[in-house]
Amino acid sequence: MATYKVDERDVHFNIFEYLNIKELTAYDKYKDQNEELYKMILNEGLKFALSEFDPLYVAGDREECHMKDGVVIVPKGYKEAYAKFAENGFVGIDTPPTYGGQGLPCMINTATMEFFTGSNVPLLLYAGLSRGVANILEAFGSPELCQAFCANLYNGKWSGTMCLTEPQAGSAVGDIRTSAKKNADGTYTITGNKLFITGGDQNLTENIIHTVLARVEGDAPGTKGISLFLVPKIWVKPDGTLGERNDVNCVNVEHKMGIKASATCTLNFGEEGKCRGFLIGEQSRGMKMMFQMMNEARLMCGVQGEALAATAYENALAYAKERIQGANTAIINYPNVRRELALCKAWVEGMRGLLYLTGKSIDLAHGHPDDTIKEKAKNRVELLTPICKAYCSDVGFKITEMALQIYGGYGYVSEYPIEQYMRDVKIASIYEGANGIQALDLMGRKLASKAGQLFREFYEDLTQFVASQEGNTELKNEISALKKAIDTVAQVAMKIAEWGMSGEKTKPMLSANYFLELTGHTTLAYILLDQARVAQAAISNGSKDSFYRNKIRTARFFVAHVLPMVQMRAKNILSEDLSSIEMEF
Ligand SMILES: Cc1cc2nc3c(=O)[nH]c(=O)nc-3n(C[C@H](O)[C@H](O)[C@H](O)COP(=O)(O)OP(=O)(O)OC[C@H]3O[C@@H](n4cnc5c(N)ncnc54)[C@H](O)[C@@H]3O)c2cc1C
Repeated sequence: MATYKVDERDVHFNIFEYLNIKELTAYDKYKDQNEELYKMILNEGLKFALSEFDPLYVAGDREECHMKDGVVIVPKGYKEAYAKFAENGFVGIDTPPTYGGQGLPCMINTATMEFFTGSNVPLLLYAGLSRGVANILEAFGSPELCQAFCANLYNGKWSGTMCLTEPQAGSAVGDIRTSAKKNADGTYTITGNKLFITGGDQNLTENIIHTVLARVEGDAPGTKGISLFLVPKIWVKPDGTLGERNDVNCVNVEHKMGIKASATCTLNFGEEGKCRGFLIGEQSRGMKMMFQMMNEARLMCGVQGEALAATAYENALAYAKERIQGANTAIINYPNVRRELALCKAWVEGMRGLLYLTGKSIDLAHGHPDDTIKEKAKNRVELLTPICKAYCSDVGFKITEMALQIYGGYGYVSEYPIEQYMRDVKIASIYEGANGIQALDLMGRKLASKAGQLFREFYEDLTQFVASQEGNTELKNEISALKKAIDTVAQVAMKIAEWGMSGEKTKPMLSANYFLELTGHTTLAYILLDQARVAQAAISNGSKDSFYRNKIRTARFFVAHVLPMVQMRAKNILSEDLSSIEMEF
């Protein structure tokens, strides 16, 4: 049963009209590329998602991963689809071509990842981490490590993992106990136990390349003393062929609520004292490097929230047009169902805009010739990353739930894919740093970063947008509602800074999730209104495409139905209520 649905028109609108990807081709990094190439990749990506990923989605969920004779077995068809995915060059769409990346813009990668994630997120997860490992090696590894491992990660012969979590160290990564001891030959002996490792074992690829956080004996406690190691499942000989098995064993594969076709494994490193790995980059700098991989993975969590919400919405929309209840009335005609569909649509389009805008900021940070613009784009990515991750995964879950509601009882049974979307999206708010931790990152780290510069630059951009829309009579009320929301965000940010200066710790921590939520709502309202501006221009240039008129309606709806929540969350924060702290549980 084909289940994946996406609004391709909106994807193209974002890339070619709203974010004007053509602008990038003026920069050296993208000078040999053009819009036709980008369109071709998007078409190929969507075609692949529909023909290779989507047909395995439901069956993979029913079959799940399981262990047989000490090896994790993935569902039928996954191995072949993974190999084809890699063969097509989809593992490294936006990474450098040196070892097999395609060097395309991150915007294109984000859009294709939306297709792959929305059509089969558990299968995509195997590839996402392979790319992450290759990328981290290219950024920090020695040329020898890159030479030995990167090409086979991109071409799909091998896959990658990231191993942080341990039974006693989840959010508190600094508490890890996995240890590393230097050997005479320069390798390290690794000993420890890692939990919940995505793709930790599988029968998809002939080798698995683990990146492992561990502490070299004698190094500082906490995150400061952590180093990063590359630990292959099977040792690679100097000529590139596979040698002896490393001492890494999968001892369990989890049974889960969702993403059942993605293997979530418990790994023991060095049960026989023979697990060896290579140090990546400098000793004790592991967290800094792992952050690069985690930041990419965090954006992908945001894409997971948006992509599954988008396909859930499109499916619910199709269902609402067909389902008759009452006097020959399709349920889409009932105002309550229309309101629910509009909420799904507006949130999905806003999140898509946010994720692709962040993708463009990454492209500018890497490719723009002007250092000031590069720096500003980098600041924006840093600020938006926790919002992409946490806001899109939380809202994504809400939307799948709302889409399920539109199906009534049929949404609750497994005949339709909607309940699977809801189960599969939930994990995005938990892994790669639970959303509570993302909120603390936004409030504690990003708000204060560079003496408030990240936040100030973003605030100025939004304020400038409002000023530029002074003459926009059609959206006058919406622009003034956005201005009020921006002022409220600033007012709350000031309060948080005040607490920080006075040494108050509890109130900021109590407010972090609310702050992320209100910043997310405001950012999405800005993006949707900016998209409405582009639509207005198309209409005044004579376009009769109803897509543009709907863009204006979508922005208006979001401002009327979601943006007011900014004031409510601000009130929650500014009330300084401490009753949850005082409460006796
Ligand atoms: C399917 C799946 C796949 C995974 N894949 C990987 C993987 O590939 N590699 C890997 O290393 N890990 C992986 N994980 C682990 C995942 O990253 C952790 O589960 C996650 O970081 C949360 O840690 P925890 O489960 O120990 O929860 P805890 O840390 O116990 O957190 C529980 C709750 O308390 C809150 N909390 C904890 N500390 C704080 C704090 N200081 N301030 C405020 N709130 C706090 C959290 O927000 C959360 O809501 C995976 C997990 C699952 C379920």
